[in-house]
Amino acid sequence: VTPATPVEQRRLFELQQVDTAIRRLQHRRAHLPEQQALDENAETLARISSDYATQRDRRDRLELQQKRHEAEIATVDARRKAEEGRMYSGLITSERELEALRHEISACRGRKNDLEDALLEIMEQREEVDGLVASLEERHVELTGKVDELTVARDVAATDIDAELAERQRERDAATEALDAELLAVYHDLLGRKDGVAVAELVGRTCQGCRLELTAIELEEFREQSQRALARCAQCSRILVPSS
Ligand SMILES: [Zn+2]
Repeated sequence: VTPATPVEQRRLFELQQVDTAIRRLQHRRAHLPEQQALDENAETLARISSDYATQRDRRDRLELQQKRHEAEIATVDARRKAEEGRMYSGLITSERELEALRHEISACRGRKNDLEDALLEIMEQREEVDGLVASLEERHVELTGKVDELTVARDVAATDIDAELAERQRERDAATEALDAELLAVYHDLLGRKDGVAVAELVGRTCQGCRLELTAIELEEFREQSQRALARCAQCSRILVPSS
């Protein structure tokens, strides 16, 4: 049994009313249409940002591959020209050496063809990825702007609620200051376990917490106990206080 005067019980109920109001305001704030629009667009933006980063990486890798292929083609080409220069210089007369040079030049041409085929494929992929990156970038810019706009709209819509929340919070602070720690501990424990309603009024014979009626004996016990201590509803075990 937790001792509590009728005045303290009334204060607990007033605290409950403030907390209920705070909960409603918080719920309204979280479910503002502006908030929902913002959440949806922020989610899409996160997805687009991730795709955008992935495609830019892909583009960077392809760009690097393209450069490597171009450099290798230039190397192979230079080598072929050098070998051709040697062949036509007239300095090499050995048929065996000339044959080796012809073979080398032909190998360079083959290698160059292979590299050029691969390069073409890389460039085709790049064209596709460049298109993707461009459209993702456009979408990213568009969504970032939208999210900024919606954030402002949400903040504007939340202004009144926030002002009311601040006012209720001040009321709550005043209410808790007027109550002793033991009563607050009981209250907060119940608040967490009873879906935000720790204290209910008894109206007639009905507990406003669970809407069940007290029996005649329970009613008698309630009247007796509530004069000096916290009474509990026999059904829902919330703190039950007399209606004002
Ligand atoms: Zn009840």
